[in-house]
Amino acid sequence: MACIFCKIIKGEIPSLKLFESEKTLAFLDIGPLSRGHSLIIPKHHGAKLHDIPDDQLAEVLSVTKKIAVAQGVQDYNVLQNNGRIAHQEVDHVHFHLIPKPNETEGLG
Ligand code: 5GP
Ligand code: ZN
Repeated sequence: MACIFCKIIKGEIPSLKLFESEKTLAFLDIGPLSRGHSLIIPKHHGAKLHDIPDDQLAEVLSVTKKIAVAQGVQDYNVLQNNGRIAHQEVDHVHFHLIPKPNETEGLG
Protein backbone atom coordinates (compact mmCIF):
# COMPACT_ATOMS: atom_id res chain seq x y z
CA MET A 1 0.00 0.00 0.00
CA ALA A 2 1.69 3.20 -1.15
CA CYS A 3 -0.83 5.49 0.56
CA ILE A 4 1.06 7.88 2.85
CA PHE A 5 -1.92 8.39 5.17
CA CYS A 6 -2.30 4.59 5.59
CA LYS A 7 1.41 4.56 6.49
CA ILE A 8 0.77 7.29 9.07
CA ILE A 9 -2.10 5.20 10.51
CA LYS A 10 0.24 2.18 10.77
CA GLY A 11 3.00 4.30 12.33
CA GLU A 12 5.35 3.70 9.40
CA ILE A 13 5.56 7.48 8.86
CA PRO A 14 5.76 9.70 11.97
CA SER A 15 3.07 12.27 12.67
CA LEU A 16 2.01 14.59 15.45
CA LYS A 17 -1.23 12.93 16.55
CA LEU A 18 -4.05 14.89 18.15
CA PHE A 19 -6.64 12.10 18.49
CA GLU A 20 -6.93 8.42 17.70
CA SER A 21 -9.76 5.90 17.93
CA GLU A 22 -10.59 2.59 16.28
CA LYS A 23 -12.00 4.38 13.20
CA THR A 24 -10.40 7.83 13.12
CA LEU A 25 -7.02 9.58 13.29
CA ALA A 26 -6.29 13.30 13.59
CA PHE A 27 -2.79 14.75 13.19
CA LEU A 28 -1.10 18.03 12.37
CA ASP A 29 -0.62 18.92 8.70
CA ILE A 30 3.06 18.85 7.67
CA GLY A 31 2.57 22.05 5.66
CA PRO A 32 0.20 24.09 7.82
CA LEU A 33 -1.76 26.99 6.35
CA SER A 34 -2.12 28.36 9.89
CA ARG A 35 -0.99 27.38 13.37
CA GLY A 36 -2.81 24.22 14.44
CA HIS A 37 -3.86 23.17 10.91
CA SER A 38 -4.88 19.53 11.32
CA LEU A 39 -6.07 16.64 9.18
CA ILE A 40 -8.82 14.29 10.31
CA ILE A 41 -9.05 10.98 8.47
CA PRO A 42 -11.02 7.74 8.55
CA LYS A 43 -8.81 4.68 9.06
CA HIS A 44 -10.77 2.99 6.28
CA HIS A 45 -8.79 3.65 3.08
CA GLY A 46 -10.81 5.36 0.38
CA ALA A 47 -9.76 8.03 -2.08
CA LYS A 48 -12.93 10.11 -2.17
CA LEU A 49 -15.82 10.99 0.10
CA HIS A 50 -18.20 8.56 -1.60
CA ASP A 51 -15.75 5.68 -0.92
CA ILE A 52 -16.12 5.98 2.87
CA PRO A 53 -18.83 4.19 4.92
CA ASP A 54 -21.30 6.52 6.65
CA ASP A 55 -20.35 5.48 10.17
CA GLN A 56 -16.71 6.39 9.54
CA LEU A 57 -17.66 9.74 8.01
CA ALA A 58 -19.89 10.57 10.94
CA GLU A 59 -17.07 9.99 13.41
CA VAL A 60 -14.57 11.99 11.34
CA LEU A 61 -16.90 15.00 11.40
CA SER A 62 -17.57 14.58 15.11
CA VAL A 63 -13.82 14.46 15.84
CA THR A 64 -13.29 17.54 13.63
CA LYS A 65 -15.80 19.43 15.77
CA LYS A 66 -14.22 18.24 19.03
CA ILE A 67 -10.73 19.35 17.93
CA ALA A 68 -12.05 22.79 16.96
CA VAL A 69 -13.62 23.08 20.42
CA ALA A 70 -10.45 21.79 22.13
CA GLN A 71 -8.30 24.28 20.20
CA GLY A 72 -10.59 27.05 21.34
CA VAL A 73 -10.76 28.61 17.89
CA GLN A 74 -13.76 30.77 17.08
CA ASP A 75 -13.11 31.06 13.34
CA TYR A 76 -11.96 28.20 11.17
CA ASN A 77 -12.37 26.47 7.81
CA VAL A 78 -13.16 22.80 7.25
CA LEU A 79 -12.10 21.70 3.75
CA GLN A 80 -12.31 18.36 1.99
CA ASN A 81 -11.00 17.98 -1.57
CA ASN A 82 -11.97 15.22 -4.02
CA GLY A 83 -9.92 14.70 -7.19
CA ARG A 84 -6.97 16.48 -8.81
CA ILE A 85 -9.05 19.24 -10.39
CA ALA A 86 -10.43 19.94 -6.91
CA HIS A 87 -6.83 20.18 -5.52
CA GLN A 88 -6.70 16.76 -3.84
CA GLU A 89 -3.05 15.68 -3.51
CA VAL A 90 -3.35 12.71 -1.13
CA ASP A 91 -5.77 9.99 -2.27
CA HIS A 92 -7.02 9.05 1.22
CA VAL A 93 -10.05 11.01 2.37
CA HIS A 94 -9.11 13.78 4.79
CA PHE A 95 -10.77 16.81 6.30
CA HIS A 96 -8.63 19.91 6.82
CA LEU A 97 -9.35 21.88 9.98
CA ILE A 98 -7.73 25.29 9.49
CA PRO A 99 -7.91 27.76 12.37
CA LYS A 100 -8.25 31.40 11.33
CA PRO A 101 -6.55 33.47 14.03
CA ASN A 102 -7.92 36.79 15.16
CA GLU A 103 -6.08 39.60 13.30
CA THR A 104 -4.83 40.98 16.61
CA GLU A 105 -3.04 37.66 17.27
CA GLY A 106 -0.87 38.05 14.17
CA LEU A 107 -0.14 35.51 11.45
CA GLY A 108 -0.59 31.78 11.97
P1 5GP B 1 -5.03 17.83 -0.19
O1 5GP B 1 -4.50 18.84 -1.16
O2 5GP B 1 -4.91 16.42 -0.70
O3 5GP B 1 -6.43 18.17 0.27
O4 5GP B 1 -4.13 17.99 1.12
C1 5GP B 1 -3.14 17.09 1.48
C2 5GP B 1 -2.50 17.62 2.74
O5 5GP B 1 -1.68 16.60 3.30
C3 5GP B 1 -1.58 18.84 2.52
O6 5GP B 1 -2.05 19.93 3.31
C4 5GP B 1 -0.19 18.36 2.95
O7 5GP B 1 0.56 19.35 3.63
C5 5GP B 1 -0.52 17.17 3.85
N1 5GP B 1 0.49 16.13 3.87
C6 5GP B 1 1.07 15.52 2.80
N2 5GP B 1 1.95 14.60 3.18
C7 5GP B 1 1.95 14.60 4.55
C8 5GP B 1 2.66 13.85 5.54
O8 5GP B 1 3.48 12.97 5.25
N3 5GP B 1 2.38 14.15 6.84
C9 5GP B 1 1.47 15.11 7.21
N4 5GP B 1 1.29 15.32 8.52
N5 5GP B 1 0.77 15.82 6.30
C10 5GP B 1 1.01 15.58 4.98
ZN1 ZN C 1 -4.88 5.25 2.68
